[in-house]
Amino acid sequence: MKLLVPVKRVVDYNVKVRVKSDGSGMDLAGVKMSMNPFDEIAVEEAVRLKEKGVATEIIAVSCGVAQCQETLRTALAIGADRAILVETDAELQPLAVAKILKALIDKEQPGLVILGKQAIDDDCNQVGQMLAALADLPQATFASKVEVADGKAQVTREVDGGLETVSVTLPAVVTTDLRLNEPRYVTLPNIMKAKKKPLENVKPADLGVDVTPRLKTLKVSEPPKRGAGVKVPDVATLVDKLKNEAKVI
Ligand code: AMP
Repeated sequence: MKLLVPVKRVVDYNVKVRVKSDGSGMDLAGVKMSMNPFDEIAVEEAVRLKEKGVATEIIAVSCGVAQCQETLRTALAIGADRAILVETDAELQPLAVAKILKALIDKEQPGLVILGKQAIDDDCNQVGQMLAALADLPQATFASKVEVADGKAQVTREVDGGLETVSVTLPAVVTTDLRLNEPRYVTLPNIMKAKKKPLENVKPADLGVDVTPRLKTLKVSEPPKRGAGVKVPDVATLVDKLKNEAKVI
């Protein structure tokens, strides 16, 4: 069984991003970029499924600028077998990514697509769900445990107030939550090996996909600055301030 694992190149989670002075977006010049953390978890899960003998081949896919190759090389170093870069300089919104992935499902016929539940840059949480709808596949989102057997995936999902276990017939789309696994460290020998693994380069038009944005960003602004805190001498003053100033009790 083939596994398709989409990986997005995003601003590293340690970076504090700044809004551009004209409010048109984020200032990304010279900012460190990394693989979306939820996608690292997806690649790790795919590698574990291959190690268990459930999967035979892992294909990592990234859509975006030429530098997404670095993200794909990281996926290959974690353990993916080959990679596909769908290269474009255009702004890619979740629907466009989902259409590209749908075209790749048609071409590669994977048994399972494992992707992150959300990208930490746009926080959309849309691609997995849109992909399942476009490809007419069952979906299990926010997975904290995945077991594959007899043409089905049993997925434990993190929902409000607990865990829910669902069974989906393969092929299916699964999105990863934080507690699914802890991704392994990428070792130097594996980084070297990854350089020799195949990386195919295609354009959205080669897959027959129109990536024209459907949404327009009107304005991006910083969250309001937090005021400085104050020290109170005793509990009585604290209670008084909470009651009469903050009016929260
Ligand atoms: P989103 O719906 O934008 O929050 O993204 C959810 C997931 O879709 C991510 O965790 C990735 O696995 C995948 N994804 C989103 N954008 C891309 C992209 N440009 N290239 C590859 N995968 C992507």
